Amino acid sequence: MIVARFDSIKDWEHFVDLKREIIQLKEQRVSLRSMVEDITKQLKIEIEKRESIEQELAKLGRLNIIGQLAAGLGHEIRNPLTTIRGFLQMLKCKAELVTYTNYFELMIEELDRANAIITDYLSLAKNKPTDFKRLHLNKLLENLSPLITADAYSQGKKCIFEPGDIQDLEIDPHEITQMVLNLARNGLEAMPIDGCLTIKTFMNEQDIVLSVNDEGQGIPPEHLSKLGTPFFTTKENGTGLGLAMCYNVANRHNAQIDIDTSQNGTTFFVRFPNQGSHPL
Ligand code: ADP
Ligand code: MG
Repeated sequence: MIVARFDSIKDWEHFVDLKREIIQLKEQRVSLRSMVEDITKQLKIEIEKRESIEQELAKLGRLNIIGQLAAGLGHEIRNPLTTIRGFLQMLKCKAELVTYTNYFELMIEELDRANAIITDYLSLAKNKPTDFKRLHLNKLLENLSPLITADAYSQGKKCIFEPGDIQDLEIDPHEITQMVLNLARNGLEAMPIDGCLTIKTFMNEQDIVLSVNDEGQGIPPEHLSKLGTPFFTTKENGTGLGLAMCYNVANRHNAQIDIDTSQNGTTFFVRFPNQGSHPL
């Protein structure tokens, strides 16, 4: 043990002062360390936020370029396709060509598929002005329900609509129609036969929500961050443009898309800000 010896009271006082300073310094060190830890944590959060914003911006930038290309090419390609489709339709009805009916139908189907791909691309065109109208989402779903139900039925699946008590919204009906069709199509494609797709609307203080729920196998975590990136697809015949278009439309409507997914299925929530309008 070290025993301190002091030759005078002054030395003793000096020693006590030093001790006090050391204790203070230790306390300061502890509080400085916790400050540094706090700042590091905040910095990490800021960096993560910044990275996600940068990723979003890069995604939007890519969408913009694709949109511009699509707008330029889409119309040019569509016109000759429409002419070819018309002639095929006419030839299909000729009695002397009846043995080729199957071929004609296949060609028309393929043309329709090409047309659908162009529609997806065109929907990404950001320079297209959004045509907002005040309307009721439930009305729009009501008009779409026969189409989606028929689509589901043709795949041996079911579709249920559960419109909730919601207020009207400022939306572009054409864009929202495309979005609902894409979400519904994805939900149907994700499900096995007999699966049931449920499309709901509901409202809370902040949002008016459209949800599309399927009974598929869910989305693996490693795919979640890629959703909405143009051309990301896990399907053999997929374009990987459907969700990119949905995110783009949501963005133009100040809406947010949230995904809830598990092995029992996936729900896409599109949350439109509640604009505090009057009920219809
Ligand atoms: P595509 O349908 O042409 O593949 P999308 O952009 O619509 O393109 O979807 C991209 C990918 O996201 C799909 O290939 C699929 O892997 C995944 N996905 C989208 N919706 C669902 C869903 N409801 N359930 C499971 N996976 C989905
Ligand atoms: Mg799709």
